[in-house]
Amino acid sequence: ATPMSIISGVGRAAELGILVRDADALQQASQLNTLVFDKTGTLTEGKPRLTQLVNLSGQSDDARLLRLAAALEQGSRHPLAHAIIAAADVQGALPAVRRFRTHAGKGVSGELDGQLILLGNAALMVEQQVDIGPAQAEIDRMAQRGATPVLLALAGKLTALLEIRDPLREESTAALARLRELGYQLVMLTGDNRATAEAIARQAGIDEVIADVLPDGKAAAIVQLQQQGKKVAMIGDGINDAPALAQADVGIAMGGGSDIAIETAAITLMRQDLHAVVDALAIANATLRNMK
Ligand code: ADP
Ligand code: MG
Repeated sequence: ATPMSIISGVGRAAELGILVRDADALQQASQLNTLVFDKTGTLTEGKPRLTQLVNLSGQSDDARLLRLAAALEQGSRHPLAHAIIAAADVQGALPAVRRFRTHAGKGVSGELDGQLILLGNAALMVEQQVDIGPAQAEIDRMAQRGATPVLLALAGKLTALLEIRDPLREESTAALARLRELGYQLVMLTGDNRATAEAIARQAGIDEVIADVLPDGKAAAIVQLQQQGKKVAMIGDGINDAPALAQADVGIAMGGGSDIAIETAAITLMRQDLHAVVDALAIANATLRNMK
C-alpha cells in the first residue's frame, strides 16, 4: 500500500466514526485472525439490572436484604453495584457499613452492626467458608440463563441470591455472524463466571470462552493466544480492559467506554455499535490488499 492509499483508508474510516491512530494500526488490522471481545459493556449493554431476589433467610423481608446489599455496594463502582443500588429503596439513609473492602474479581465485604456481610460470586463465598451447597442448583439455573448470580451472606450464612441480567446489545449477534463469515476466530474474555459467560456466548454465537479471569489476567490471556501464533485484536470498553488493549496486536475501544481504554487503543469506535468493528476490518483489508 502506498502512503496515499493508507491516508485515504484512515480518512474513509473517520467518515464512519472509526478513529485510526496511525498507518501501523491499519497495517496490523489487516493481519488479524483472532478477535477477543470483553463481555460486559462490549457484547452486552453494560447496564445490568436486578431481575430476581431469592430470599433464603426465613425471616428478613426482601426489601431489607436488598437495602443491606445496597448499603455495602455504595463503596463499589462495579456495574453490578449500580444494579443493586438502583433496585433498592434508598429512601432514608442506608445503614453505614464499616470496614468496607473490595475483593478483586470476587465481590465486596463489610460490617454492619458488628456482623460480617459478604456480597459477590461463589468464589468469594468459598474463600470465606460460607456453605453454598443448598443453593447450588438455583445458582446454576440463574447462570444457565445468562444471568450473573450475586450471593449475599450475613454472619457466615448464605442469606439471599440476587439475579442480575445484562442483555446482549441488540446488534451483537448479527455483527459477530458477519465477522465469523469473514473467517475470524471469535473469543469472549470476562471476569464473570464460566456458566454465565457460556450462556451469553451461545446467544452471541461465540464458541470460545475465557472466563473467571481476574482483573489483571486479561493481558496474560492475550499473550497466551499470541504465543499460539495468533494475530489478535482485543475489543473492550472498560478500565480493566486497558492492559489487554495495549497487549493485543490491535486494541479496539468501544466509544462511550472509559477514557483509559480509548487512550490505550489503536482504533476507537465512535459509534457504540459492533458493526463498526466489521467496517474497520473491511477498510484495513481493502487498503492493504495490494501490498507487496
Ligand atoms: P467483570 O467486569 O468482567 O464482571 P470483574 O473482575 O470486575 O469482571 O468481576 C468478576 C466477578 O466478581 C463479577 O462477575 C461478580 O461476580 C464479582 N464482583 C466483582 N465486584 C462485585 C461487586 N461490587 N458486587 C458484587 N459482585 C462483584
Ligand atoms: Mg466491559
